[in-house]
Amino acid sequence: MDHKPPPPHVVVVGGGLGGLAAASALVNRGLRITLLESRPRLGGRASSFNDPKTGEMVDNCQHVSMACCTNLADFSRRVGIADLFRRESVITFLSPENRISRLRAGIGPAPFHLAESFLSANYLTWNDKLRVGYGLACLARNHDVRPGESFADWLWRHKQSVRTINLFWATVLVSALNERLEQMDVGHARRVFVDGFLLNRSGFQMELPIAPLGELYGARLETWLREREVEVRLTTGVRSIDCGDDAALQGVTLRNGERIPADFVVLAVSYDRVAGMLGETTLAGMPALAGLNRLESSPITGVHLWFDRPVCPFDHVVTPGRFIQWVFNHTAIQGRTATTSTSEDPDGGQYLQIVISAAYDLLAMDKTEIRDAVLADLVEMWPAARDASLVRWWVVTEHGATFAVRPGVDAFRPPQRTPIDGLFLAGDWTDTGWPATMEGAVRSGYLAAQGILDDLDRPARLIRPGLKSGVLAKWLLGRSSRPSVPPDPSRFVPQLDALNPADVAT
Ligand SMILES: Cc1cc2nc3c(=O)[nH]c(=O)nc-3n(C[C@H](O)[C@H](O)[C@H](O)COP(=O)(O)OP(=O)(O)OC[C@H]3O[C@@H](n4cnc5c(N)ncnc54)[C@H](O)[C@@H]3O)c2cc1C
Repeated sequence: MDHKPPPPHVVVVGGGLGGLAAASALVNRGLRITLLESRPRLGGRASSFNDPKTGEMVDNCQHVSMACCTNLADFSRRVGIADLFRRESVITFLSPENRISRLRAGIGPAPFHLAESFLSANYLTWNDKLRVGYGLACLARNHDVRPGESFADWLWRHKQSVRTINLFWATVLVSALNERLEQMDVGHARRVFVDGFLLNRSGFQMELPIAPLGELYGARLETWLREREVEVRLTTGVRSIDCGDDAALQGVTLRNGERIPADFVVLAVSYDRVAGMLGETTLAGMPALAGLNRLESSPITGVHLWFDRPVCPFDHVVTPGRFIQWVFNHTAIQGRTATTSTSEDPDGGQYLQIVISAAYDLLAMDKTEIRDAVLADLVEMWPAARDASLVRWWVVTEHGATFAVRPGVDAFRPPQRTPIDGLFLAGDWTDTGWPATMEGAVRSGYLAAQGILDDLDRPARLIRPGLKSGVLAKWLLGRSSRPSVPPDPSRFVPQLDALNPADVAT
């Protein structure tokens, strides 16, 4: 009798977007796939919790994507959730004096398609605009970037004022990169402007989910994967990745002691869990992981407010120069289809979600203080907030929301392929060239899956290219580059002994 060898077994550890992207790209390729997730739900950091008072799914925080995130878009199409995003081609800004400006593509070709909106933005004076224009031109040309320098220092050296820094640069970048300008990598800042705002006419447009994250990346994904014979095991924490004495990959051991043999493992957990799961001996053979203990985290606060009546007249609004940074009108965003929009829920109330990125200053505040500071901003912006009653509220601060894009950070991010045959890493913190975003996480998962297919001699190109650059933009800016500045070598001193598994929570 002919005995066919069993299909290669791939174990994906972690059901965040990195792990989900890897698993989704490997289905229907004759592999046995097991996805292990320690929490009772998929989605990782992009997920929802159930409000115990109402049973409603509430997102941990609003997640926004941009049209330049081509791999996230590919993933959404692949797993059949693309219909749950809505494209916003106009971004609304409200100045500190409550004047409205809108960012939309005008008639000019990239990179000048946003010039008209920029020149008419009323939260900047003409003097501010000249300064910002000069700064943007220098940034696009990668002018005079010094190793280890923060973006704030670069801005000071490029004639930016306190006003332009606070009202323009911080407004765009603090939320895009979840970091303060004083500790932000210049290359990543440049990339946001070049990839997002300059190379392509539509790259800056926003993609907003019109369903809770828990439905997008949780329930829908789980069904999609199970239908394709992926064994999804929730509430299944992995304790360790197992390698033999010869450093050959054997599989994984669960927290309950169960051992699962595997031909390939994609370790798609957050960076602070990796050392504890690999163990000292394995780590010692992986110099690319020596920089992991140099990665740091940056917090994000999401404030959820349910009012008894409409307060905010917009679907979303960016608020330069305020304590709050973005307001999302969830009643309007999630209560609509691709063609309709309503600012009221059936009871006449409104659910707003306020996002504050790089929320370091909020860590010392209690939740009521944060709520009151947010309400004070809302009342200044919309008098209706003064009369409205707050029916319910949540303040959710994710301390480790993303890894921090500190100067030179890319030197500490390991590639997806490891020196151990069959063991791959995934997660937004791995080397993708992207900051900690859903796009970065999906890219990492695709790169890990590509590595597995290469090893099986079934190469496939999973990574999607970026949006096509406009002809003029390409000529003026060249291709978007990875951060071009080498890190300050003094920041990168491998400290293997500091990666003590005992110090790392699993
Ligand atoms: C508040 C907040 C707001 C954000 N806003 C945006 C945004 O607007 N736009 C954007 O693009 N990105 C945003 N992000 C970032 C985005 O959510 C992440 O970049 C992305 O979800 C990371 O996915 P990941 O797979 O790399 O990691 P994770 O989502 O952290 O996934 C890792 C998974 O591994 C699991 N795990 C850990 N240990 C084990 C174990 N021992 N065994 C089994 N499983 C384990 C975890 O439970 C988790 O599910 C935001 C993040 C936060 C927290």
